[in-house]
Amino acid sequence: MSLPPSATPSPIQAYLDTLHREFSGLTAGEVATYIPELAKVAPDGFGIVLATVDGQVYEVGDARHAFSIQSVSKPFVYGIALEDNGRARVEQAIGMEPTGDPFNAISLEPGTGRPLNPMINAGAIAAAALVAGTTEAARLARVLDALSAFAGRPLDIDQAIFESERDTGHRNRAIGHMLRNYGIVDGDPEPALGLYFRQCAVRVDCRDLALMAATLANGGVHPATGQRAVRSEFIEPMLSLMTTCGMYDYSGSWVYNVGLPAKSGVGGGIIAVLPGQLGIGVYSPRLDERGNSARGVAVCRRISADLGLHFLQPPRPSVATVRARYTLQSVRSKRRRTAAEGRQLDALGPQAEVFELQGDLRFATLEPVLRAVVAGAAQITVLDFKRVGHVDGGAARMLAGLASRCAALGHQLVLSRVRRGELLAGLDAMLAPQAIPVVSFQPALDAALEWCERRLLARPADRGALPVVLPLADSRLCRGLTADEVGQLQAQLHRSQHESGALIVQRGDPADAIYLLAAGEVSVIVDLPGGGHKRLSTLSAGMVFGESALIAGGQRSADVRADTAVDCWSLRAEVFERLKLEQPRLAITLLHNLLSSASETIGRLTAEVAALEG
Ligand code: GLN
Repeated sequence: MSLPPSATPSPIQAYLDTLHREFSGLTAGEVATYIPELAKVAPDGFGIVLATVDGQVYEVGDARHAFSIQSVSKPFVYGIALEDNGRARVEQAIGMEPTGDPFNAISLEPGTGRPLNPMINAGAIAAAALVAGTTEAARLARVLDALSAFAGRPLDIDQAIFESERDTGHRNRAIGHMLRNYGIVDGDPEPALGLYFRQCAVRVDCRDLALMAATLANGGVHPATGQRAVRSEFIEPMLSLMTTCGMYDYSGSWVYNVGLPAKSGVGGGIIAVLPGQLGIGVYSPRLDERGNSARGVAVCRRISADLGLHFLQPPRPSVATVRARYTLQSVRSKRRRTAAEGRQLDALGPQAEVFELQGDLRFATLEPVLRAVVAGAAQITVLDFKRVGHVDGGAARMLAGLASRCAALGHQLVLSRVRRGELLAGLDAMLAPQAIPVVSFQPALDAALEWCERRLLARPADRGALPVVLPLADSRLCRGLTADEVGQLQAQLHRSQHESGALIVQRGDPADAIYLLAAGEVSVIVDLPGGGHKRLSTLSAGMVFGESALIAGGQRSADVRADTAVDCWSLRAEVFERLKLEQPRLAITLLHNLLSSASETIGRLTAEVAALEG
C-alpha cells in the first residue's frame, strides 16, 4: 500500500532529512568559550534550512532553536553602512582584501590603518561606526530593523550574550581604539563597540538565517514578505566580500570546495547564498580551529556538491531567447489592406523583421539576437518584449548600441511591449542623440506591425485625414455586378455617417445588417477575458463588416468603432432575404464576393499561424 501524498515528503525535504541523519554523528569541534555566555549552549544542536527566492522553505532538525547571530551580522551591517554613506565613503574606511588572518586579528592596512575588509572584527567595528543615527538608540534601531527586514520577522537581542561579550571583549575594545588611533573611527570608539556587541547578540534561528540568505539571493527583497531589506545596488559588494572574506582564513578553500558567498559566526551559524536561486542556513555550534561551524562547513560542502550549487557552474539559459522570428511578408497587423497594398506588402515584407523575445536579457542571451539582426537584411527590426522578464544594464547598453547602428544605416528599431519604467528603465539615458529618432516604442505587437506596414507603404498615419468617399461600384462587394445591378442594390442600402470614436456596432446587439465602408476607417474590437480590449482588425473604404448578419444572424460578437469620420452603407438582413428571391443573380454575386474576401482572410491567418509556429 502506498503512503498518502501528505505523508510523503518532497524529494528536497527527503534529501535534507537524509543529510541531517547522516551528519548527526559528526561531533568534531568545540563550542566557543571566549564569550562566557556562549560556552553554555547545547553543543550538539543541529539544523539545516534551505529557502528559495520564491519563498519555499525546507527545514530539518533544530531549525527553530534560537542562538546569537555573531559574525553573520557583519555583511548585513556592512550593507547598512553602504546605504547610509554610499560606496565611496565606506571604501575610504574599510578595505576589500582577504586577510588570511583569524577573525579577531588586529589587522589594519599599513599606513592608512584601514581594516582590510568588513568581515573581520576590525572592519565590522568600523562598519558599525558608519551606521547612521543621532543617538545610540537610533543606530541600534536602524540595525535591528534592517536585520529584521532580512529575516522577515522582528528580531531582538539576547541580553545575556550581549553583556557577556561587552564585559569580556577586551580584544575588540583594543581594535576599537586602534581604529580611533588611525582616525577610522571618530572620537570615542565605545558607542561603535556597543553597537557591534549588540548586533552580534541578535537572536536568530536557522530558518531566519536561510531567509536572510535568500533575501540576498533575491536581490535584497525578502522572498515571503516582499519587503526590500537593502538597495539592490549594494547586494553585489556585500556578496563579493562574503565570497572572498566570509569564512575568514578558510575563505579560499571555501570558494574552492563550496563555491557560494557565505558568512559564519561563532554562535554556530553559517549562511550561504546562491544569487538568483536560494539561501542556506546551517546551525551547529561546535567550531573548528578557525571559528567556523565544523559541521556547518561539512554540510554546505555536501549540499553544494550534491545539488550542483557552485556559483562558477552557472545555469545555462533554459530557453532560446528568440521565441518566434518572421518578417512582415508572412505576418501582418490586423489592419486589412486593399489588394494593391497587400501585393506591395508581399514584396516589401522581408524588409521588416520581427523577433519575439523571451526570458531574461543579458550579454549571453542578447548577443545571439544581435548577431541575427546584424546578419539579416531587414531595414526595420522589431523586438517584442512581452515575454522578457528582465533586462540587465549590460543588455540595455547593447540595445542602445543596436539603435546607434540603425541610425548609421538609416534603419529603424521598433521596441514593442516594453513596459517602460520596469524593463529598460535606463535605456533613454544610454541612447546616443542620433539614435533617439530611430527608436519607436509601441504598446502592442499589432501596433508595431502596423507601424512597419505604414513605413513600408510610406503612408503617414491617416487618422484625421479627410475621408474620400468610394463609389459603391468600386467596392469589393460589387465586383461582377452590372451597373444596373449596382443601381438596384444602392436603392436597397441605407446610408449613414458616424463621427470619429462612435460605436457603430455593439457586442450583443442583434446581427441584422451588413455594412459597407464608403469612407473612413473602423476597428473591430473584442473584450479580453482578463479585462482590456484587443483589436481584431481595422478596415478602410471599400471593405465590409458585420457580414455574419447575412449568414448566421444571432448577436454581434464584437464592437465596431469609427477610427475616423465614417461614411457607410448598410444592407438589412431582411432586405437581403427578399433580394435572394427577387434577384437571385445579384444575391449570389454578393455572397460570392463575401466568401472570396473571407477565404482571403483565412489564407492570411493560416500563413500567420504557420510563421508563428515555425
Ligand atoms: N562577537 C564575536 C567577536 O567579535 C563575533 C566573532 C565571530 O562570530 N566570528 O568575537
